[in-house]
Amino acid sequence: MPFSGPVILRLSLAASALSLVVRALPAQAPEAGAGFPEPGAPLKVIDVRWIDTTANACTDFFQYANGAWLAHDTIPAAYPSSGVTRDMSDRNELVVRSVLEDAARERTSYPAASTQRKLGTYYASCMDSTAIESAGITPIRPWLSEIDGITNRRKLIPAIAALQVRGTSVGFDYSAETDPHDADHYVAWLTQGGLGLPDRDYYTRSGPSADSTRQAYAEHIRKLMVLAGRRPADAARDAAAVLDLETEMAKASLTRLEQRDPAALDHPVSRAGLDSLASAVAWSEYFRDIGETVPMPRINVGMPGFVHRMGELLASAPLEQWRAYLRYHLVSTSARWLSTPFVEEDFSFQSRFTGAKALLPRWKRCLRAADASIGEALGEAYVAKTFPPEARARARAVIEDIRAAFGERLRHLAWMSDSTRAQALEKLSRMREKIGYPDHWRDYSKLEMKEGSFALNQARARTFEWQRVVNRPGTPVDTTEWDISMPTVNAYYDPSRNEMVFPAGALVPQTFDPSADDGANYGALGGSWAGHELTHGFDDEGRHFDAAGNLRDWWTAADSLHFTQQADLIARQFDGYLQVDTIHVNGRLTLGENIADFGGVLTGYDALERALERNGRPGLIDGYTPEQRFFLGYAQTWRSHVRDESLRTYVTVDPHAPDKWRAIGPLSNTPAFAKAFNCKPGDPMVRPPELVPQIW
Ligand SMILES: [Zn+2]
Repeated sequence: MPFSGPVILRLSLAASALSLVVRALPAQAPEAGAGFPEPGAPLKVIDVRWIDTTANACTDFFQYANGAWLAHDTIPAAYPSSGVTRDMSDRNELVVRSVLEDAARERTSYPAASTQRKLGTYYASCMDSTAIESAGITPIRPWLSEIDGITNRRKLIPAIAALQVRGTSVGFDYSAETDPHDADHYVAWLTQGGLGLPDRDYYTRSGPSADSTRQAYAEHIRKLMVLAGRRPADAARDAAAVLDLETEMAKASLTRLEQRDPAALDHPVSRAGLDSLASAVAWSEYFRDIGETVPMPRINVGMPGFVHRMGELLASAPLEQWRAYLRYHLVSTSARWLSTPFVEEDFSFQSRFTGAKALLPRWKRCLRAADASIGEALGEAYVAKTFPPEARARARAVIEDIRAAFGERLRHLAWMSDSTRAQALEKLSRMREKIGYPDHWRDYSKLEMKEGSFALNQARARTFEWQRVVNRPGTPVDTTEWDISMPTVNAYYDPSRNEMVFPAGALVPQTFDPSADDGANYGALGGSWAGHELTHGFDDEGRHFDAAGNLRDWWTAADSLHFTQQADLIARQFDGYLQVDTIHVNGRLTLGENIADFGGVLTGYDALERALERNGRPGLIDGYTPEQRFFLGYAQTWRSHVRDESLRTYVTVDPHAPDKWRAIGPLSNTPAFAKAFNCKPGDPMVRPPELVPQIW
């Protein structure tokens, strides 16, 4: 999705635990560490066994809510982190595994054209390690020969197009997305891409750590090329060539922070305009080769500087350098699906950025590939096993309470003018919500799957996806579509469609339990998820889109100024938090997420009060009031534990603050939190009133 911020939503991260012991609250909670559940035991929205009753809720509420778990937890070797996301995903994956194993076992009994047959064939070919080991690099050798055959510059663009269609991201990225100025229709997007390291900053930073990452990358390229059959001297030259070319591409790329400004990505051009931006590229040939059958009159060039530079590099960088670059990216993209030496080299390099110490078992890797590539093919069976209609109805009630609570806040905001308010209310009322699963499942009739090589089946799945969307520009937006698979433990808000989307995989404990109390559900699903996603429609990025999803400024100058000044308080608040080593949270990069978290807490809390009025107040549960359980439910959704390698990567690439600060930051700005736990001015969890942002 070209607009980066809100859409990626709530990828879970965390910080290691530290701190502090003083006063326990309340006395009824069990001893830390007592009676921990077995791995795989059912999750609860609030689990009082995770609470560190020796911590002071008013000093560090993350530690209070999760400290006993943190003291007890060890991150499993194959994971970059542990906590809520992993716990929920592990449980979801057991269900998905049974769906995939059934499909694989029974596949020959299904009709050849059926989705079940294709799903079973895909998974079975991925699990067939004997065939994969004996094939080595054979499945992709014909494509390597194509790259060797780039002997003149006219063959370069067709080769890039062919790789992209099969799922290898090289050069730049093409996609068909919502038109920023006509949200009812798709438009073609050309954006920066094609780098092998996780971000452009890895190429441009100086210092010993950056140098050592680039050296490791060059060594990784060299090793993969030797495995792919290049002579050692040629492989070493390839590595230097790839790193040089990618460094040029990185220098022309926008930073993550620059990409948070929607106006910076808004550059519609005609075909003639594209020709003059990058005249060395035969664009007509490119569009033909990626499968365009209806000419696209207009293209949005997300990063004109990058596309211009890419045109220069395509015209001037030596062909030998381009061949090395394309060869490496083809092998690198395929490596995890080839024989063991490729898989191990790929894992060993990737683990620099995740800290994982061991490979996931093959079934998990295959399952995640199926989910990422043909996820909706398995979604229907997953939903049937996990998400009854009653759960959907109860989740919808929580989300509707959130919507109503946010509307009340908008109606009463003293700082907002009536003209901005009217448009904000319209945006809220037209915001769509998708809960659990789609009303229409994706049509996989054109997906081709064959018994045999998994690397080829994976390329077929990617080609199917490419062909499904390539000719969308100019056609009406499919408002029924989901951009997330059903078993995913995540959700998103899409500003260009003005919709929030919650898949079934996120609507299970620990996020939500139809049988749990309102305090727990409104804290976790309400505050941490639904209120968060809804607020993205009005964060520093989402507010630039109107009710229809068009990029349009509907704010008065005075309202914009107030919003920006208050948002600055949040940016400065998070700049003050330490992330890893001596590196602080980037308050600007994480601003949209932090605004969404704060808005989520405020509206989730209001929604709880509405629900309590309607449903009645229960007595204490586990010794806590409904309001205390709201904040516990919220803070326990941030229960996590992340390896330092992973944290260092996220500092650079992720728009979310670490989970610890996502718990502490918004709650320390929320007077209702201080009241619920009887915290006093001067306590670390109570920020001075002049520093508390007045936005929602
Ligand atoms: Zn978010």
